[in-house]
Amino acid sequence: MSKDYRVLLYYKYEPIENPGTFRDEHLEFCKSIGLRGRILVGAEGINGTVSGTIAQTEKYKEFLHSLPGFEDVWFKEDKADDYAHKKMHVRYREEIVSLSLEEDIDPDEITGEYLKPQQFKEAILDEDTIVLDTRNDYEYDLGHFKGALRPEIRNFRDLPNWVKENKEQFMDKKVVVYCTGGVRCEKFSGWMLREGLAKEVGQLQGGIDTYGKDPETQGELWEGSMYVFDERISVPINQVDPTIVGKDHYDGTPCDRYVNCANPDCNEQVLMSKENEDKYLRGCTAECRKHPRNRYVTEHNLTENEWEERLNNIGESLYEEVR
Ligand SMILES: [Zn+2]
Repeated sequence: MSKDYRVLLYYKYEPIENPGTFRDEHLEFCKSIGLRGRILVGAEGINGTVSGTIAQTEKYKEFLHSLPGFEDVWFKEDKADDYAHKKMHVRYREEIVSLSLEEDIDPDEITGEYLKPQQFKEAILDEDTIVLDTRNDYEYDLGHFKGALRPEIRNFRDLPNWVKENKEQFMDKKVVVYCTGGVRCEKFSGWMLREGLAKEVGQLQGGIDTYGKDPETQGELWEGSMYVFDERISVPINQVDPTIVGKDHYDGTPCDRYVNCANPDCNEQVLMSKENEDKYLRGCTAECRKHPRNRYVTEHNLTENEWEERLNNIGESLYEEVR
């Protein structure tokens, strides 16, 4: 029964003439075969992650490969025990990754040099090369390449500003960039080149996902696990010497378990053990723990007395100003 499912990750920058129609037809097909996942469609191409049984994912691959311009889409595949998504979404987006530049980048015109996993590994080991993670801070915090720079961003579209503000770290240097599957770096590395923000820019072809499966590198020099935008949240990469680099929000102990803060107005992704989730009512701050709509409290049917008692255990209270 187990491992009868697959998760596919893929993208292609390829002009789509009528993305609205493309979207509708795509959604219809995916639903007809029972596939699940999240696909973004724009005039610049397609970017998706889907999951299903082996048969369903094979049908989808065949379908996408049958569309003109998409015959050569490269699917990164993971085995799974179940669907990794709850529903099937196909959405129209102006950009298939949101970089929101004033002047857009077409990766077919300008992009960083593609590096195979082994070449990327050599770049990491080269002291004169800067390794830049192009993902968000919460992705980095779960796992990243050894020595990689951590941009302080919550959204990809904030990366250009961060890089400009920190450009003395890159100017006149060799820079290599990486992301989950490669789609973000295609545009981002092109942008760095266009703006003259580095001497050379390389990008990890196929992303971390490909690096982890590469028979030569076997994911070596990756620390922690990799954040993914589906129900699995984290997947292993390093097959040689796996570690945990995430830290529990409350006590700093090693942790790679992400959950959303129970305050619906906050909903921040926070690393926490099951034990600390219970202790702190899954709230990332004192305010979140006593928020009137705290979802942990609702899910566990805590009475007000029980709620107060739990908070008292950690020196807080529903009724007093938080110290
Ligand atoms: Zn919170």
